[in-house]
Amino acid sequence: MGTEMTKNITLDLEQTFGDLNECVLVTNPERTIVFINQAMSNLLKVDREKVVGTTTKRFFANPNQFAQMAELYQSPTDHRNRKAYSIDLALEDGSTVSVEVVSAPLFDTDHTLTGILFIARDQAERKALESKLSDIALTLEDALDAISEGFALYDKDDRLVICNDNYREIYAHSAPAMFPGNRFEDILRFGLNRKQYETGGKTDDEWLAERLDRHQAGDGSILEQNLSDGRWLRISETRTRAGGIAGIRFDITELKHAQAKAENAYKNLSLMADNIVASVTEVDLEGRCVFINKTACDWFNEKPETLIGTRLRDRLPWKEREAVRTIFEEAMSGEKVSSEVSFHFPDGILRECLMSCNPRFGDDGAVEAIVVLISDITDRKKTERTLAELYAITSTRELGHEDKIAEILRLGTEHFEVPFGIISHVIDDHYTITHAQSPEGELVPGTSFPLQDTYCLLTLKSEEPIATANAASSEFARHPCHEIFKLETYIGAPILVDGEVHGTINFTAPDVRKRAFSPSDLQIVRQFADWVGHEIARQRDHQALMNAKINLERVASIDDLTQILNRRAFLERANTEVQRFRRTKRPFTAVMMDIDKFKQINDLYGHATGDEVLKKFSDTVSSALRAVDIFGRVGGEEFCMILHNAEIEDAMLVCERLRVKIIEECQLDIVKQTVTCSMGLATVAREDLEFSTLMQKADTALYEAKATGRNKCVAHKSSYPEHAPAL
Ligand code: GH3
Ligand code: MG
Ligand code: MG
Repeated sequence: MGTEMTKNITLDLEQTFGDLNECVLVTNPERTIVFINQAMSNLLKVDREKVVGTTTKRFFANPNQFAQMAELYQSPTDHRNRKAYSIDLALEDGSTVSVEVVSAPLFDTDHTLTGILFIARDQAERKALESKLSDIALTLEDALDAISEGFALYDKDDRLVICNDNYREIYAHSAPAMFPGNRFEDILRFGLNRKQYETGGKTDDEWLAERLDRHQAGDGSILEQNLSDGRWLRISETRTRAGGIAGIRFDITELKHAQAKAENAYKNLSLMADNIVASVTEVDLEGRCVFINKTACDWFNEKPETLIGTRLRDRLPWKEREAVRTIFEEAMSGEKVSSEVSFHFPDGILRECLMSCNPRFGDDGAVEAIVVLISDITDRKKTERTLAELYAITSTRELGHEDKIAEILRLGTEHFEVPFGIISHVIDDHYTITHAQSPEGELVPGTSFPLQDTYCLLTLKSEEPIATANAASSEFARHPCHEIFKLETYIGAPILVDGEVHGTINFTAPDVRKRAFSPSDLQIVRQFADWVGHEIARQRDHQALMNAKINLERVASIDDLTQILNRRAFLERANTEVQRFRRTKRPFTAVMMDIDKFKQINDLYGHATGDEVLKKFSDTVSSALRAVDIFGRVGGEEFCMILHNAEIEDAMLVCERLRVKIIEECQLDIVKQTVTCSMGLATVAREDLEFSTLMQKADTALYEAKATGRNKCVAHKSSYPEHAPAL
């Protein structure tokens, strides 16, 4: 190589590397130095001019290293020689320095080697840098371990760069595969093989493909991952500026459980809300519905999607709307408001409601919404009213047995809102109406049906109240009664009297009832049946008692021998006649009668014959009198009668006829003497405050009749108005 050429190269090299911070040295193929730059001369602590042209050998502290590097010159194109050499340099001042040397062969245009370019880097510097970097890495790991999430960083080739202990703990099964340099996919596979993940029914390959897609997207979106031990992780992965993926895992198992619990609770709440028979709605401050349960949907007769977002109150008649508005306004101010209101709901039913508006407060303490609970208290109210009325009917003394039963049937038809009410008496297979309530009197007591043609057969079989509000769509439809009487609505209960089946009480309608019968309706019909049964038993007892009493009274007031009123009973009746006279001023006449010479009959024909005469006498007089007249035996053979509404003249005529009739009819074959009787008459007058006074007058007249010949009628003188004492 000529000096010219060397000069030119040196010039070029100077221009290229002269001021470079890297230490550059160029040799020719004979290992003679042709160029060093300033940085290199600083490193070697030599003068640039002095070293050019000398061999590199004197800079090698270790001659072996010099020998080894000969390979660079012998086969410069061998790529294996493109490695870095660590060389200990011997400096001019006797010290050594460790450097790392990389080399590049230089060729001329005909591909012959013209030299080798070396770049040396002080290793002390590099080592210092490395230790600094490793300090940083340790600090970074410490920092990563301090965070509670699992953290992992993958490089652009998806190899693990770094991860924290939490990351390894979270994926305990995969942890052995988590060493720097291992690929994300391989770590996943390692975990999959050890059942680290819950793949949710997917094959491992499907799961892996999906997972890698998400990982590669690195879009920071949230992924929830389920592990096979039931834990849940929230994963967020983002692409780094260096093209890698940084991922954070957060254990959300508890959160998931809480969430599941909350979801369950909400489901239960909705289920509960749907199953309660009250309307539950939530409305916003404008009154628009944001939540509605099933009952409310039924009442408003619409699907929830139609109702949500609308103002429910606008579906009520305007008057009711006003009432709701007022209550709402009060609730808006933060007060809980309860009120009893009647609503005509869109399903066509008028309900008496208890409406309670509960304000719901937001975090700021302001009213956010109102939860409205409406319970249907129609039944309760009606039941209360009906029970109160039932009590009034059954406890009053104003009504008799039959009236009470009629009132109960009326009350029942009103309560159940049906046209027909029946009390039946059932004997064997015969059903007979004993009492009925019907709009036009269509149901006639006494009418009978075969028991099997009536729903009451079912009632008696079940031995308790039963009901249907829509027979056609119930088991009642199969019953002959549905075919024969076309009754769609029925509620009935068995009536027991003294523990025995007596019959039924039932309320029916040919139409389907708008509302189903409630449990309290069944209770009410049971109450009716109980009361009627009780009342029938009482009535039976009462009747028996009355019969006994009547019998007793009869026994007590009838004379055994003559079967006419005895003295006590006669005087009682007589006294009422005096009372009547005082009220009406209608006169009557008392007549004392005594059989003439009766003692003689006894004496001549015996006491028994005397009795026969007494009997015959009574029969004769009784048959001659009107029903309104009163006749009794007041002594042994003394009788008294009251001629109703008769003044003395009329009474005298009656008595005269009677006197003749006795002579004609009151004779016995064996008695030879003619049986006659004497009568003393006295017509009632103002002074006769007691019947005994009148009786004495009649007796006085009788005495006169006896004294003046017997077999005659004599009137007391006071009986004639002209003899009456002046007022
Ligand atoms: P006079 O015309 O004055 O009335 O005469 P008399 O015989 O009827 O007299 P009095 O009225 O005093 O006689 C009543 C008699 O009637 C006395 C009594 O023995 C009798 N006697 C009273 N009760 C009964 C009775 O139940 N049966 C019978 N056989 N006789 C009776
Ligand atoms: Mg007498
Ligand atoms: Mg006599």
